[in-house]
Amino acid sequence: MNPLRGGCACGQVRYESTAKPLVQFICHCRDCQRASGSAFSASVFVPRDRVTYLSGQMHHYDVKAESGRELRRQFCSTCGSPISAYWPESPVVEMLTVASLDDQGIFTPTHELWVSRAEAWHPFHPDTIKVPEGPAEEVVRAPIRAYFAARQG
Ligand SMILES: [Zn+2]
Ligand SMILES: [Zn+2]
Repeated sequence: MNPLRGGCACGQVRYESTAKPLVQFICHCRDCQRASGSAFSASVFVPRDRVTYLSGQMHHYDVKAESGRELRRQFCSTCGSPISAYWPESPVVEMLTVASLDDQGIFTPTHELWVSRAEAWHPFHPDTIKVPEGPAEEVVRAPIRAYFAARQG
């Protein structure tokens, strides 16, 4: 496949992922609302060791997500665009923001999480599975486990 490419609003941060997304979803939790500056965040999960940052500089902060796990969110140090996030205690996958992708057309979300926190002024995607709070473990972990089990090298 062609690498997934993306970057920030000012153009300094550029990345590519040579793996395609393992999991794709929309999250309406308060933390994602704050971090995105909007009603929700839209993310694709890729294997972290397949992501390369090509240019630019990112800053990060750590936040305890509503799941209770510490999440590290990374953003461009110049323009502040949210780029990615990962769990430092288990840095296997990295979430890339859909807004940062060059080709947002690849986004096909399967689930919407924390719909209990969703803003009333934005409609839901018609085809997603709606989860009231955080995802059941298997929603996120099963595709990731399957990927690493099948992967060679
Ligand atoms: Zn930037
Ligand atoms: Zn969230």
